[in-house]
Amino acid sequence: MKVTHEDSESCKEVFALLSDYLNLELPPDACRDIERHLAGCPPCIEFAESLRKTVELCRQYRPAELPGPLGEQAREKLQRAYEKMLAARQNSA
Ligand SMILES: [Zn+2]
Repeated sequence: MKVTHEDSESCKEVFALLSDYLNLELPPDACRDIERHLAGCPPCIEFAESLRKTVELCRQYRPAELPGPLGEQAREKLQRAYEKMLAARQNSA
């Protein structure tokens, strides 16, 4: 079994798309791109999971509203989580 890993540039693109993805703001094409990247990139899967949890957490506070864009704070938190993920990966490479 061969494990190929996406380079971090494409991970960054995925990160940029992921928040839109989880906000349901992405067209289906872009969703498929993300899902394809996630299929070959375990660190991004982990990141997507934490992103999803964060989004769900945010939504719990306003369940009656339609999903809106993430707040500034949530975005910062995600950015940090992402940087941590990248750093952890570089350490293990
Ligand atoms: Zn990735």
